Amino acid sequence: MSEPGDGQARLNKIVKQIAGVMVTEVCSIYLKRQDGSLELFATEGLNPAAVHATRMKRGEGLVGRCAELNITVNEPEASSNPAFSYRPETGEEIYHSLLAVPIQRSGQVLGVLVVQNRAQKEYSDEDVEVLQTTAMFVAEHLVSGAVAGAGAAVELGKSLSALIQGEPISEGIALGHVVLHEPRIVVTKLMAEEPAEELKRLDAAIIALRASLDEMFGHEHLAAAGEHRDVLEAYRMFAHDKGWERRLREAVEGGLTAEAAVERVQNSTRARMLRQNDAYWRERQRDLDDLSDRLLRILAGRVTSADEPSKLPPDAILVGRTMGPAELLDYDRKRLRGLVVEDGSGQSHVAIVAKALGIAAVGQAGGIVERVSAGDAAIVDAMTGEVHLRPSSDVISAYADKVRFLARRQRQYRALKDVPAMTLDGERIELHMNAGLLVDMPHLKESGADGVGLFRTELLFMLSSTLPKLERQVESYRAIVARAGDKPVIFRTLDIGGDKVLHYLRQPKEENPAMGWRAIRMGLDRPALLRTQVRALLRGAGGHELRIMIPMVSMAHEMDAVRALVDKERAIVAAKGYETPRRIAIGAMIEVPCLLFELDSLMKKVDFVSVGSNDLMQFMFAADRTNARVGSRYDALSPAPLKALKALVKAAKKHDVPLTLCGEMAGRPIEALALIALGFRSLSMAPASIGPVKTMILSLHAGRAAKLLDELLKKGTRNIRAQLDAFAKAEGIEV
Ligand code: PEP
Ligand code: MG
Repeated sequence: MSEPGDGQARLNKIVKQIAGVMVTEVCSIYLKRQDGSLELFATEGLNPAAVHATRMKRGEGLVGRCAELNITVNEPEASSNPAFSYRPETGEEIYHSLLAVPIQRSGQVLGVLVVQNRAQKEYSDEDVEVLQTTAMFVAEHLVSGAVAGAGAAVELGKSLSALIQGEPISEGIALGHVVLHEPRIVVTKLMAEEPAEELKRLDAAIIALRASLDEMFGHEHLAAAGEHRDVLEAYRMFAHDKGWERRLREAVEGGLTAEAAVERVQNSTRARMLRQNDAYWRERQRDLDDLSDRLLRILAGRVTSADEPSKLPPDAILVGRTMGPAELLDYDRKRLRGLVVEDGSGQSHVAIVAKALGIAAVGQAGGIVERVSAGDAAIVDAMTGEVHLRPSSDVISAYADKVRFLARRQRQYRALKDVPAMTLDGERIELHMNAGLLVDMPHLKESGADGVGLFRTELLFMLSSTLPKLERQVESYRAIVARAGDKPVIFRTLDIGGDKVLHYLRQPKEENPAMGWRAIRMGLDRPALLRTQVRALLRGAGGHELRIMIPMVSMAHEMDAVRALVDKERAIVAAKGYETPRRIAIGAMIEVPCLLFELDSLMKKVDFVSVGSNDLMQFMFAADRTNARVGSRYDALSPAPLKALKALVKAAKKHDVPLTLCGEMAGRPIEALALIALGFRSLSMAPASIGPVKTMILSLHAGRAAKLLDELLKKGTRNIRAQLDAFAKAEGIEV
């Protein structure tokens, strides 16, 4: 241990040497993290890819028990122990015997040292002693701070301010104090003395579990319809699953305590589910973990945090490695300001529930759990994805101002929702919103949008575990049309391929997916998928107006093929006796630059056009929109793209074709100002941008802006953005 080298290299060497000396096939070191979970830090024998990836919750598995109860575990056949937690990523299934000892110092457990062998054997007293002694040395090594992320090194870092960059998953800003989410109950007793009694306990706990979910999900905050309801209903179905109940009962009948049975069933289900390696199953697995933990808490007689609101500070920022949707609901909503998790994407179930509750949330905040202590001050900026830990007073006051400002702005925006977006010189600008899920639809009313200018249908497909069947699609589209009421919705047909991969469709791996086999290219080459979607849209919008928009059109004549396909499907739907839409409008997205040189021909073939500026700009500048190095290098407010957009406005006017723009730039006030100056009278944006853009419009004189932009373009001014900023300032326009 005194040899030079960094901490990780030394740990790697230690496990290798121990395995050699003790003649074991595996030797691993797990270290404890702030929340009590254990992370695999080094291994000889297990899959190296599992290092820093495999984590056990507090008390989970044999390793977790070793740490939590501070005991030595000596198991000839580890997998038959009810507490065993199967982790397929480690490749440990071929090893039978396991010996685990705590790595401790001054009575504090820092981690676990484990050896494993293929042979089924009980380790000798001598083996145990050797391993325990080695663990003492490892403890010394850790306390010296040699291993980053472990022991003393963590303690030191925890007194300083820190900034962690994650991804916003539910918008907002929250200031408050950290509460560490500790879901786990440690199961100490495995075998039951009275199986009949145990069965009664289990039954009672399941009944209590179901009742508590009914009560929780019936909460007023969640009453509004939306996608979160679907998530919670699916969760509730898990709790009522007969198969799950049967497996639990069988485990108890086999002699386990109710708690051990819950763990056993959780483990075996996980083993099955983890083989399905995709986001959908990960979410389902998380639901099931959440449910099992909840049942364990009920069995342990431990009330949930919701029953003990006083334990939460009034400004709680919840921090955890991971969280299920119902776990979040355990906390008192009134005291909860923010949420930070180490995993979790914008589409995760917990994100959907956080959005429904209006809690600012950041996901992908790697390593945060070990860098915070309960009670630390923290700021969650779920606009940028930043989490400030133990911020300085300057940062706190800057954010406090920002929160007050945002709240004031929000009130202003709400007050504007029914005010038409009209410029000072009387130009009415249509403001539509972009959406992609049923859960977005209530924003239509809240934001006062004129309609849905872009409904990205691929999100429904991406959230599903299998290709959504016709009937399911019909149902979804019908629900969306119904929620929109008398406001129009533009459904964009599937834009998959590229980076939006549907795992259940076999798609070839491409070198350059953004310019690859995506969207309408795929739709025309493999029409079955597009036909089903069009058929579902026609039925879903039966009796209403249907607007269909085609992404990534590259040649005008592609729209002929689309129209022929829609006509054919319409005839089929009618022949089958379903009600068809009262009017069908088919539009093209302008995302591929060459289409700009075929506008006369295109305009004759479409009922409307919409600029997908995200893609159009990336292709015009040949700058990948997902590559941070080049993505923001070129400004859309430059002469070339603005001239292109101007030509488009002219062509649309000439052919009397409605024109809108639905890329991100529509939602940024200064860009929206430029678009209006170019002649755009319809824009579509994220619901949250409608307030700011409308505020800008209400103080804008469109004619004066158009004149200025015209001059700037004629002069070939490079820095148009700065000039428009100055114009806005001089005219008192809020941008
Ligand atoms: C666009 O490209 O501007 C657009 C709206 O489509 P997406 O962002 O879904 O590619
Ligand atoms: Mg696009």
